[in-house]
Amino acid sequence: MTVIDVIEPATEQVLATVERTAEMQLDELIERASRIQKDWAAEAPATRARVLLAVSSAIDLHTEELAELESRNVGMPISDARGAIAGVATTFRYYSAAPERLLGQTIPVEGGVDMTFREPIGVVGLITPWNYPMTIAAWKVAPALAAGNAVVVKPAELTPLTTIRMAELAVEAGLPEGLLNVVVGAGSTVGRRLVEHPGIGKIAFTGSTAVGKDIARRAADSIKRVTLELGGKSAALVFADADLDSAAEGLVGAVFGNSGQDCCARSRVFVERSAVDDFLAKLHDVVTGITVGDPLQDSTQMGPLISAGHAKRVEQYVSDADVLVQGTTPSGPGYWFPPTVLHPAGDVDRAVREEIFGPVVAILPFDDENEAITRANNTIYGLAGSVWTSNAARSMRVARAMNAGALAVNSYSSVRVSTPFGGFKQSGLGRELGPDALDAYTEVKNVFFNTND
Ligand code: NAD
Repeated sequence: MTVIDVIEPATEQVLATVERTAEMQLDELIERASRIQKDWAAEAPATRARVLLAVSSAIDLHTEELAELESRNVGMPISDARGAIAGVATTFRYYSAAPERLLGQTIPVEGGVDMTFREPIGVVGLITPWNYPMTIAAWKVAPALAAGNAVVVKPAELTPLTTIRMAELAVEAGLPEGLLNVVVGAGSTVGRRLVEHPGIGKIAFTGSTAVGKDIARRAADSIKRVTLELGGKSAALVFADADLDSAAEGLVGAVFGNSGQDCCARSRVFVERSAVDDFLAKLHDVVTGITVGDPLQDSTQMGPLISAGHAKRVEQYVSDADVLVQGTTPSGPGYWFPPTVLHPAGDVDRAVREEIFGPVVAILPFDDENEAITRANNTIYGLAGSVWTSNAARSMRVARAMNAGALAVNSYSSVRVSTPFGGFKQSGLGRELGPDALDAYTEVKNVFFNTND
């Protein structure tokens, strides 16, 4: 038996030790899940609905415990972690309504009746990253179970704790054992085995674009279904007529939230040239006012980065760039990195093109609307984006012209449980959340019923 030491990024101490899943164990889990899935899919829809609602309540009841675990494991401020766990409970509650609403269609045809059914895929493999471990696991687990599947989740090896706890709570709440399985290990071993396993019908992956491409290639061998939520380099367009206070203050969450380890981070902020000085003055106050420190304190707005290696990577982007403003960090142990504003010379800078996944924002002046749209779209990514303006017609025009999956007007919001979320271009394939997620965990079956004698 080999184990993984799970590290607390704010203290650099071992937080917990978890057992790695061996290859043979994984095969057995998948085989058992495949048997149990058939019983689950055959349950009355109302029974599946009741169980998912009970899981939601169990998570609600354990909010404080789960939030503390997520906060310590990820380094996420506790107030954000509480919000994240509330979101997990909401996700299960939302999808608890789905088993009774998996509607098909009847289609007019000659010679009979034609109808469609939404059938479960079987056993699905869910692979998640370390930045919002329980949130992203829930986005996949809840609709997958609601649609009648069994699941095998592989959390990132840095952050397996809340996913493991979620599965325990789900069983206590009444979910049949063996339906929601958590496996622990590296992407290159356990993750890859899941992707290649013949007993897995679909992979839902959230993580980097590089790994997403590898998964898509391997899954293609057996035409395994895949949905991918990948990296981003999202833009905000701030026009001179916008509420500049809100646009600047909102960046506390939109680019420094979770220390910038957020796929939707608005890491490129295009500001209309006539408003740049004003905006930067406001941003200076915002950035130097961010409380960086112990994630378990209620007043903390930003914690550490996930690991020493990641902090080094983020530093490389900043060390060769033009730094405009930088906040502070605590001294002592912890993988700290200050909130940082860059003023790059041009859009070709590495810090403007590549996903940094740290608390770093680039401010980019622009002169007119079309130029701003063209530059914002000049990226391989297309996950999220924002338009800040008081001109309603322009806000809609620009939002429609931006090539991204999750746009917000006068807001940095990206995710709501009831609306679809996902990326254009190399930010992903398919949509999670909202009704769309149910399509991603079902197959459409068409049945023609002959009515001729
Ligand atoms: P990562 O791609 O390194 O790892 C993600 C998961 O994939 C982990 O569980 C890892 O063990 C596993 N994995 C790694 N190699 C694998 C392989 N060859 N086969 C199967 N599984 C493998 O990503 P990360 O560093 O954990 O997370 C950061 C990335 O995730 C960023 O690029 C970020 O933008 C992205 N992300 C995207 C979204 C979204 O919804 N679009 C949300 C959060 C994070």
